[in-house]
Amino acid sequence: MHKIVAIDGPAGSGKGTIAGIVSKECNLVNIDTGATYRCVALKALRNGLNLEDKKAIIELSKDINIEFTKDARVFLDGEEVTDDIRSKEVTKIVSPISSIVEVRENMVELQRKLAGDNDVILEGRDITTVVFPNANYKFYLDATLEERAQRRFKQNKEKGIDMTYEEIYENIKARDYNDMHKEVGSLTRTDEQVYIDSTDLTIEEVAKIIIDIVNGGK
Ligand code: C5P
Repeated sequence: MHKIVAIDGPAGSGKGTIAGIVSKECNLVNIDTGATYRCVALKALRNGLNLEDKKAIIELSKDINIEFTKDARVFLDGEEVTDDIRSKEVTKIVSPISSIVEVRENMVELQRKLAGDNDVILEGRDITTVVFPNANYKFYLDATLEERAQRRFKQNKEKGIDMTYEEIYENIKARDYNDMHKEVGSLTRTDEQVYIDSTDLTIEEVAKIIIDIVNGGK
């Protein structure tokens, strides 16, 4: 049986950074499921689709080619989009797009396919509940809204993404609400997840908690 590590949590809780570290330490293939929704959003933008045009967005999500490289670069229909999917425009529409039930069905299928029979770590919102409810290890990573906005602000600055702290705060707040109130695949806490509040922890401290559990359960 292959090993599956699943991490859920709200935007900016550090899932991406932590999954990157744990994947290297524990030799796991890293799948950023948020990136799959971001690719759908980017493709919709590039095709000039309106958010109201759900039918066209669903069609587009059926026929999309998304690939991840080992060094966490993302390819959409053969073109590298690692930075483009983090843009302000994509970030603004990704949550409503990911609320479309049929888009979710298509992405969940794709995420399972990407995992294949590898030892994997996946991070997102519905990994522990929908994508891999039978995962060997389940975590819920959290932090206060202020701390998450602050982290994302710093991260964006480093990447040259131009968003003010207030814009990020409001965007994360709106995404939190949307992500927790989806018809299907909403972000939920369950008794099976190990809950980690990372507000006052360093990246290394959070990674260590997860690595110790994953390696300890070999
Ligand atoms: O994790 P990230 O912020 O890149 O995810 C972008 C958006 O994709 C989230 O705001 C959420 O709405 C959606 N998402 C989701 N299910 C996942 C991962 C992400 O609905 N498993």
